[in-house]
Amino acid sequence: MSALPIKADISTTWYVRFVPIALALVGSQLGSVLTRPAAKEIGRPLHQFESGRDFVRKLRVFICVLMFTGASVPVFAMQCPGNPDALGTSRVLAVSPNEYSHVGSMQYKQTLPLADHEVVLTFDDSPLPPYTDIILKILASQCVQANYFLIGQMANAYPYLVRRIYNAGHTVGTHTLHHPLALKHLPLPLVEHEVDGGIAAVEAAMGDSKAVAPFFRIPGLSHSDAIDSFLASRSLVTWSADAVADDWFRRITPQQIVQRAMQRLNARGRGILLLHDIHPATALALPSLLKELKAHGYKVVHVVPAGELPKSVPELPAPAVIASGAWPRVLHTSGSNDGTATAILHHQVKKSVFGKIH
Ligand SMILES: [Zn+2]
Repeated sequence: MSALPIKADISTTWYVRFVPIALALVGSQLGSVLTRPAAKEIGRPLHQFESGRDFVRKLRVFICVLMFTGASVPVFAMQCPGNPDALGTSRVLAVSPNEYSHVGSMQYKQTLPLADHEVVLTFDDSPLPPYTDIILKILASQCVQANYFLIGQMANAYPYLVRRIYNAGHTVGTHTLHHPLALKHLPLPLVEHEVDGGIAAVEAAMGDSKAVAPFFRIPGLSHSDAIDSFLASRSLVTWSADAVADDWFRRITPQQIVQRAMQRLNARGRGILLLHDIHPATALALPSLLKELKAHGYKVVHVVPAGELPKSVPELPAPAVIASGAWPRVLHTSGSNDGTATAILHHQVKKSVFGKIH
């Protein structure tokens, strides 16, 4: 599936009259504005800008017709299909390892160049059914693009979800092969095995190595100078965070996740928010969190690697549900009005296997 997060919609109720010369200028300039991203906004959004290109082409023809007929020009607005009040994704930021080797003020001096009230949503430890799918649907309902950091062994187990995340328009980075929490205490050969093995596993699951971003997050943010240097030597952008929501805490509630995320983001006014898409509490919190971000005037920034990325990768079929051993989990996303109010889900992976990772 290929999500088109932003779609241009032409209103039929509001009209503005321009003199023909102004129409000509708009027709000639608007296309380049919408189709050619700013210097920092190049990179992945091929499938995102695709609809924009089509729209601009049609718009130019439309304007020419209006010029000859003397009709009015409609005011158009960028909208999220089916959700005019969506949070949306405000801009795409391309990041190169040459420019940013380590980002995140929790551990590094440098972080992403975000404006006031800009936030980057990041999800670690993915993929894991059913939460990955739930969170993808919630993000899609709000036209929000996020940054993922996948674990190699999880990618091996659920390659169809790896591709689903990518084809939904999100950025896919990596998070080691087995998620060792004490990475900084491992000898360098083992660190190399974890980092390179994680990348290789995600690339194999993706089926296209070009679709995997050179973005990496250390498990548990357990860094050291030696590991940071090693990761830089691999031409990776190492991500820490600017704020966490404690969503990996065992008994944390969705309400607490939202409160902590907003409190910590508000304290900085912007930042990289670290979340996980393997925990039920995160899935339950996300609709409210996106609503709060919108209410507080935050704008979502989607970070992509500099350069071209594949438009999409071939989908893989999801495995059939195995009746034996499966256990149902019922999620009630109270307070959500985005169509994901209640989800009855069958979870086939014992959470205890992955429950302690973050
Ligand atoms: Zn993790």
